[in-house]
Amino acid sequence: MQKTKYIFVIGGVMSGVGKGITAASIGRIFKNYGFRTSAIKIDAYINVDAGTMNPIEHGEVFVTEDGDETDQDIGNYERFLDVDLFSTNYMTTGRIYLSVIEKERNMGYKGRCVQVVPHIPMEIVSRIKAAAEKTKAEVMLVEIGGTVGEYENILFLDAARMMKLDNPEDVSFVLVSYLPVPSHLGEMKTKPTQHAARMLNNSGIQPDFIVARGKGELDKPRREKLAFFCWLQSKEDVISAPDVESIYDIPSVFEKQKFGHLLAKRMKMKLNRPHKSAEWDQFILKMKSAKKSVKIAMVGKYFATGNFTLADSYISVIQAVKHAAWSQGAEAEMTWIDSEDYEKDPKKLKELSAYDAVIVPGGFGTRGIEGIISVIQYARENNLPYLGLCYGMQLATIEFARNVLGIKDAHTVEVNAKTKNPIIHINPQQAQNVSHNRYGGTMRLGAYDCDLEEGSKVAKLYDAKKISERHRHRYEFNNDYREAINKAGLKIVGTNKEQNLVEIVELKNHPFFVGTQFHPELKSRPTHAHPLFVGLIKAALK
Ligand code: GLN
Repeated sequence: MQKTKYIFVIGGVMSGVGKGITAASIGRIFKNYGFRTSAIKIDAYINVDAGTMNPIEHGEVFVTEDGDETDQDIGNYERFLDVDLFSTNYMTTGRIYLSVIEKERNMGYKGRCVQVVPHIPMEIVSRIKAAAEKTKAEVMLVEIGGTVGEYENILFLDAARMMKLDNPEDVSFVLVSYLPVPSHLGEMKTKPTQHAARMLNNSGIQPDFIVARGKGELDKPRREKLAFFCWLQSKEDVISAPDVESIYDIPSVFEKQKFGHLLAKRMKMKLNRPHKSAEWDQFILKMKSAKKSVKIAMVGKYFATGNFTLADSYISVIQAVKHAAWSQGAEAEMTWIDSEDYEKDPKKLKELSAYDAVIVPGGFGTRGIEGIISVIQYARENNLPYLGLCYGMQLATIEFARNVLGIKDAHTVEVNAKTKNPIIHINPQQAQNVSHNRYGGTMRLGAYDCDLEEGSKVAKLYDAKKISERHRHRYEFNNDYREAINKAGLKIVGTNKEQNLVEIVELKNHPFFVGTQFHPELKSRPTHAHPLFVGLIKAALK
């Protein structure tokens, strides 16, 4: 095993240009070289985690095995690196301050004056090292959220600077910057990136490499200009990163420019291990050769807010659908449908016949719920393959109770606290959390075991008797209705034995109708499509 090498990925010019994917892609390159690789995401906000943030503002909350509510980039890392990450792989300003203050209150600083500098950067450094230790990473990617020049991330940059000072050979810095093409000029401009590099210098950091994001390929004169004005060692240290069709193409875009070798050389790493790239290469081949198309309707609320936020809020579901489709030689065409449309005009439900399958992803609250229930009824009655994720499972049981068992007022207490038939209810502990406004980190979170019913469709798909999946919800299926729905054909095929909880339902005599209380999408990887999504896609292709 090699001593941990840290690669800090820092953004310049503006956010949203792909720092996370850059870090993930560099990570994949080192994994393919045979190194144990992990990644850390740093978010500069005061929130302790992403769990309490509005999904439209923040995008998806990605849940780790150990139940941390993190940023979507953690999901990108897990997908690219094909490893599990933990709470230690994620930090926010809020989390750092909280632990420093707690430590101070417990006399952890032995009576010394505790100061922003050096104690906050020191806490950051110790967390970065602890994450490397926990994951036994030989290469650790550290993505610092936001862009240089923001007041918020100065202390994180300072921590990075300190680490470089201590071990210059073990740390390198990658600046991911954006090169705009102003429409009246029609050419890529390097000046904003030059300023970003200068700004980074002000924090005591000299970038080793610049990843030049832009619409198109970087040309020779601009590459030279950037290397010269940003004080890089050579023009090869500027990596061109044009827009590409798929995020999964980026490792190979980097490899064509020898980025991995250059990084390794800078950190004095020996690249003499047998390569382990077969799995990844195979996946890329499958992705490129997908020919058929499969049409998936994604139904929920929030969807009227425009495509950008939408894709961000459900990034893991989108990726899981794509992975499964590629594994079956197909390209997924996803259409977002706002369930409120069907509340206004139920006749529109017929439009669903144009799709090969329906997914209802997770969600919260009241808006659009009746529309979703009518979509589930349509899927159930018309043999349209259906996958319900968390809320999508809960609402499927409500639909079934109402329309098959004839329990007209069946509901979830999340929407109707007074219903006489709470098919979905809340346990006393969770009810306490809600009534005392204890929202942060209190849902049922992270990995739980689930026993599968022998002979069920899902047991066959998983090819297992026991599985483990990740959760993020407050409400649960009410066991009082277990027997009735089971008897009527919505089979309970997955349960958590320890807490006696319903985890998976599956409809008898239907091509594919499955609801999961957990979020299977969180464990789908490009190199290992998730069995339930594969099941849905297979049924859809029939
Ligand atoms: N709102 C539901 C609950 O809290 C479902 C949550 C979800 O879909 N993630 O139980």
